[in-house]
Amino acid sequence: MKKLKIAFITPEAVPFAKTGGLADISGILPGIISKAGLSVKLFLPMYRQVLEKYQNLERVKKDIKIEISDKTYLADILFLHDEATGLDIYFIANKEFFDRPELYRDNKSGKDYKDNLNRFLFFSEAILKTLKELDWAPDIIHANDWQTALVPSFLKTKYKDDLFFRKTASIFTIHNMAYQGQFPAEEYGNIGLNKGYFAPEAYFEFWGRVNLMKAAICLADIITTVSPTYAEEIQTSEEYGMGLEGTLRTRSKDLYGILNGVDYESWSPSSDKLITAPYTIKNISGKKKNKQTLIKAAGLPYKKKQPLIGMISRLDGQKGFDLLEEIMEQILDLDLQFILLGTGSKKYHDYFANLAKKYPESFKPFLEFDNRLAHLIEAGSDMFLMPSRYEPCGLNQMYSLKYGTVPIVRKTGGLADTIVDFDEKTLSGTGFVFEEYDSTKLFQTIKRARKLFDKKQVWSKLVKQGMSQDFSWESSAQKYLKMYQMAQDRL
Ligand code: ADP
Repeated sequence: MKKLKIAFITPEAVPFAKTGGLADISGILPGIISKAGLSVKLFLPMYRQVLEKYQNLERVKKDIKIEISDKTYLADILFLHDEATGLDIYFIANKEFFDRPELYRDNKSGKDYKDNLNRFLFFSEAILKTLKELDWAPDIIHANDWQTALVPSFLKTKYKDDLFFRKTASIFTIHNMAYQGQFPAEEYGNIGLNKGYFAPEAYFEFWGRVNLMKAAICLADIITTVSPTYAEEIQTSEEYGMGLEGTLRTRSKDLYGILNGVDYESWSPSSDKLITAPYTIKNISGKKKNKQTLIKAAGLPYKKKQPLIGMISRLDGQKGFDLLEEIMEQILDLDLQFILLGTGSKKYHDYFANLAKKYPESFKPFLEFDNRLAHLIEAGSDMFLMPSRYEPCGLNQMYSLKYGTVPIVRKTGGLADTIVDFDEKTLSGTGFVFEEYDSTKLFQTIKRARKLFDKKQVWSKLVKQGMSQDFSWESSAQKYLKMYQMAQDRL
């Protein structure tokens, strides 16, 4: 088989820039497929935070011209080779667009940057031009989320007769339907495409606005999303498809759900450098030390008999905070402790900060982004809560299994695909699962978990069943390799 050339394009990837799970996936999948023998180039914007950390990168191209609405912007291309995986990484630099404190929005006002369309239009155009400058025509361009949605769209419109890309197929991966890249209709002109493509049946128009994700769903050769259940859900109703369910149904044959894998090199309690004491399924005793460190860091009193619930999440409606708000006080009266790590909506920042004053011995919110603390919470908690309204894949429930931290989840998306409800009769299962999006159902499930925690032997069996699960990347990567071949076959 010929060695396929893959351009993996993404707005964020660990260790360079991260706001969510997309960065975890983009940080590992390209390396794995590169190690599997494919030729892979990864493309990222050169954000300020990357520039500050990687100051001596090789500048491989300079002043590539990108036209946006009669104005010319210049892109420089910086390069890094990752020895460990053989991956070539290209950063698209332009100070005006990417030298900013955050990736997508101004943190003080909480508002998206006004020129986000232009920023990612620039990024997308610059990638296509860089590929030409490098004289490297990929077999596949693998685009991720709305920020790169223009690339598969351009391949079928602006670049459709371009001989350079005649053998390039595209895959578009959706990590979350909630972020579609919608902009006012007036900005359509910036994209530089024919007006005919701005129509409800033809790609870019969605209820009078520009919708970049819609165009990529229509135009990519293959569409994937990050779990089999989410792939079904987003075609069924507006609640999951967020208005694009009809468009998705028209591509049903070309839409696949591939579960994300876990990077066990970073997320294993036996080798995690960010936790206090390592432990394994054979000897879990270290877990207690992590709990003690965590409880101390949170300024809570250590109470041996109380379970600790951990939660790490963007403070966003998607993650089930409206349910939690209704029953948080009832939960905290259940003879347990609760530690939350998260940033996001101000409403929830205020709510949790106030709640902490009322429950100084049982509740601690860390309203910040802190990777080290995220690892310690996984290691030190007894249970992990994810009551999501929807969840494309979710990573923390899989991390939790490996850390012996029993997940309590709603049966949706990737949570439904990874956690099996514990059955007290047969003792099978790996966590606690509730179905209906309802605060009473959530509360009953937490109570069920709280009760089982006191049955030490059964609890220990449940913990071990979780720890022995394996969601490593190998099987997901194999599925992506199949997709690449399939996309090529469809050209
Ligand atoms: P999403 O992409 O919807 O935010 P995922 O579960 O797919 O949700 O991925 C979230 C990732 O971000 C996980 O690796 C999680 O540990 C991490 N994360 C979220 N919030 C924080 C935070 N405040 N501090 C540290 N890590 C966080």
